[in-house]
Order: sequence, then structure tokens, then C-alpha cells
Amino acid sequence: MNKLQFFDTHAHLCNSQFDDDRPQVLQRMQTAGVTRHLEIAYSLESARRVVDFAAATAQCWAVVGVQPNHPEDALLPDWIAQLRQIAQHPKVVAIGEIGFDHFHNKAPVAVQEQIFRQQIALAAELKLPIVIHSRDAHADTLRVLREVQHPYGVVMHSFAGDLAYARECIAVGCTLSLSGPITFRNNQAMHLVVQQLDLGHLMIETDSPYLAPHPYRGKRNEPTYVVQVAQQIALLHECSLDHVAQQTWHNACRVFGLPSE
Ligand SMILES: [Zn+2]
Repeated sequence: MNKLQFFDTHAHLCNSQFDDDRPQVLQRMQTAGVTRHLEIAYSLESARRVVDFAAATAQCWAVVGVQPNHPEDALLPDWIAQLRQIAQHPKVVAIGEIGFDHFHNKAPVAVQEQIFRQQIALAAELKLPIVIHSRDAHADTLRVLREVQHPYGVVMHSFAGDLAYARECIAVGCTLSLSGPITFRNNQAMHLVVQQLDLGHLMIETDSPYLAPHPYRGKRNEPTYVVQVAQQIALLHECSLDHVAQQTWHNACRVFGLPSE
């Protein structure tokens, strides 16, 4: 095998935090072997930007959707039609990030749920996987996922929770995407959870510009640092970085329907 390759399954490089040095960030990714990433939208406007960016960037694919913290977008009578149209682009590989956010709480639970369900229905119509944003909302997220039984792949973005929750997510068909906080030394609870999880259920992400891993904690995150997340999994699983890179690469390609070469 030649050089290690890493797949960052969740980043927001279209955000303004990257306006000054986006080309350099992409260059650093190539150098570090982070040769693929998914650019994630959170609103209709960001979905259009994300698709344009993916269209212009060979190693990038797009995930489009209305995140629960942007419920205002779902007030437009034709918002699902708009999203359906955006999702036709060949570089769109999933609908997301969608779900519940009971921390920011920008809309009543019932409204968040309706927005979530309408987008799951769109993903089913388009036969696309979904990428879930679930903050302080384990019970609601699981309840909806159990009911809908989405058959085209489900990704739990930036997974955080105990082993019981992880197993329940896996039981409803989720692949768990792990991010920077698993590298924090004081996050022993998550270390124990990660140790128990089969690599077949795991992917890696940065959620750039947020959630930078150790030793960059508190700084702007970038996809290059997904290597730190993979390294931490290798440490916890007592296996090689090579093995984690390959497994998570193949899992991401499988879930998002991309060729692994
Ligand atoms: Zn995100």
C-alpha cells in the first residue's frame, strides 16, 4: 500500500472562518493524506454554497439539508422542493445535517421533528443516506429513527454518548462518526465507549471549524486534524493507524456510495 488516506466525513469549509486561507487548508489536507471530505450544509443558502464548492473541488462531496437550528428555512412553503432541486446535483451524497437540537432549542420539539421527518422522507425518495445532528436529544432521535427505519444509511455525526446509546444507534442502522472530543484526556467515558465499538461501525470527522482535537483544542479546526481522531481510535483499539484509516475510509465510501479507489 502507498500512503495512508483519510476521509473527513463532516466539515464546514464554506464557513467564513476559512475565507482567508481556504486553498491553503485544502493543500494541507492533501499533504496530510486527508484526500476526501464531505462538506455539510445547515440551511438552504448554505446548501447552494456547499454544492458549488463540491462541484469545484475534486476531493469534496456535498451533504445538503436544513439543520434544526435554522427552522426559519422550513417556513418557506416550497422549501422541500428547493432542497430536492439542490440535491439533484451529482456531487450530493446525503441529506443532512438534520435532527434535533435541544441545547439551542430554536424551535419547539414538534416543529423540529416535522422538519426532520420531511427531510428523511426526501432522502428516502432520493435513496440517499442521512446525516444526523442530535444535541441533548438522544431519546427523540432514537424514537424517530426507530419509527422511520431509513434503509439508505444513517450517520450519527460527532457521536457522543454512553455504550447503551451507541448500541441503540447501531441497532437502528447508524454508523457512528467520531470527532475531536474523543482525543481529550479528560474524556475517559468516551474512551471506554470507543474501545467497545467495532471498527466496522465507525467513521472519522472533524466538524471543522469546530471541535478541534488535542493538541489544537480551542483553536480553529481543519480537516488535516482528522488524523488525530484516527490516531486516538488506534490507541484505544491497540491497532495500527493504517488499520483505522483503511477501515473508516471503507465504511465512509460504503455509506455514501463512493468508489473506494
Ligand atoms: Zn456540522
